[in-house]
Amino acid sequence: MRSLEIKISRFKPGVIDPPAFFTYELTPAPAWTVLDALEQIRIHQEPSLMYRRACHHASCGTCACTVNGVERLACRTRLADLQTPAITLEPLRCFQRVGDLVTVRSALFQFIQPDWSCLQPDDKRGDRDLLLSGPDRTITRFENCIECGCCVSACPVARSNRHFLGPAVLSAVSREIKKNPSTEKDLLTLAAAPDGEPACRRALACSRVCPTGVYPARHIYALRDRRTGTGNKP
Ligand code: SF4
Repeated sequence: MRSLEIKISRFKPGVIDPPAFFTYELTPAPAWTVLDALEQIRIHQEPSLMYRRACHHASCGTCACTVNGVERLACRTRLADLQTPAITLEPLRCFQRVGDLVTVRSALFQFIQPDWSCLQPDDKRGDRDLLLSGPDRTITRFENCIECGCCVSACPVARSNRHFLGPAVLSAVSREIKKNPSTEKDLLTLAAAPDGEPACRRALACSRVCPTGVYPARHIYALRDRRTGTGNKP
């Protein structure tokens, strides 16, 4: 590949404050991802660059940011696929910014209770055994949602209403009701609050950006169906 300009929105409280764009140039290998580019910039050009990453294979969601204005996982966005001469990287919207591309996503978890099934092994499938250490140890993902926050960042309602429960939480509520029907009454009460499912305006941005195919809008409409019985579908 030829040389590429990477424009990164940077922010360091009291140092780069207010935020400003910095441009870095590199010549990527054909298979490089956005995360590879960030690693190279940090190692060779800007050691103070802040971003988050962990698994490098779309399982943890920590590297989510906006790439050319669209929410994506940096680890699985290939530079070659973007087909633009310059790439702009910014942090996710709607979350508190700590520095550069790093945001705090604890708001995603504030309504999810530790006993919800998405956080528990499913004994019927033997997941508990799969988690045991040993030669056959396998990593099991309990749910498709990786809590990356892309859906919240893309949602126009979440951007304008910080009290909106948001697509990730509403998806978790919907899944929990399906898997654990005894929770329906309490969880529908939570979801049906004015800043819950009724605030959704059907923008569908959440489903478009979700990197793991959760399709949050479907879950939100499933909740709406339960509340209204109208049979609305996305
Ligand atoms: Fe990320 Fe999709 Fe979960 Fe939203 S629903 S937090 S986009 S994985």
